[in-house]
Amino acid sequence: MENKFDCHTHQQQPINGIRNFHQQQKQAFDDYALPCSVGLHPWFVDAQNWQTDLHWLQQAAQQPKVVALGECGLDALRGADLATQQQAFIEQLQLAQQLRKPLIVHCVRRFNELIAIAKKHNTKQVTPIIVHGFNNKASVLHSLLNEGFYVSFGAALLQQNSAAAKALCLTPLNRVLLETDDSTASIEQIYQQAATLLQLNVADVVQQIQQNWEQLVDNS
Ligand SMILES: [Zn+2]
Repeated sequence: MENKFDCHTHQQQPINGIRNFHQQQKQAFDDYALPCSVGLHPWFVDAQNWQTDLHWLQQAAQQPKVVALGECGLDALRGADLATQQQAFIEQLQLAQQLRKPLIVHCVRRFNELIAIAKKHNTKQVTPIIVHGFNNKASVLHSLLNEGFYVSFGAALLQQNSAAAKALCLTPLNRVLLETDDSTASIEQIYQQAATLLQLNVADVVQQIQQNWEQLVDNS
């Protein structure tokens, strides 16, 4: 069986993929030896203490096991005020640029602000950005693709007629990634569903996504 690349997961230890750690998981991050991502999650960014966490991240992110920064980003429904979230996000974007590692982004109802930051920091030229857990409408998808973003899809694909399922079919295959995130679905189920929606063989999807990840790392 091929190893299906899981771009972003919290729960499993992926056979092939990226386990994510945030600022409230410092010990678990230290104890983990396999490829992972680390970032300041916007839910846990607070106006008083986030810079302390940023110092920790600046060290942590240099470790070779850290293959991407994040998840970080903007969330209109949870976490600190927008200005603080933006500052924390920009710091992490710049850190990803310095370290030449891709950035995994969490974005809830802040896509305009995300795109404005990406434009201002010229990310198209510098850092590959993956918007994870995409489940939004086509107009949002197109504005992300125009900025050169990669888009990662997860368990929302399993829901009938989800926005994610429609968006997957509108995304150029070389910009697609797949993930389990915090769902209980397996990466096999996600790949199977993506293949069904795209009318492709699972093996072709596996190969394409692996190639996308490798290219993304090369471009960092
Ligand atoms: Zn996540």
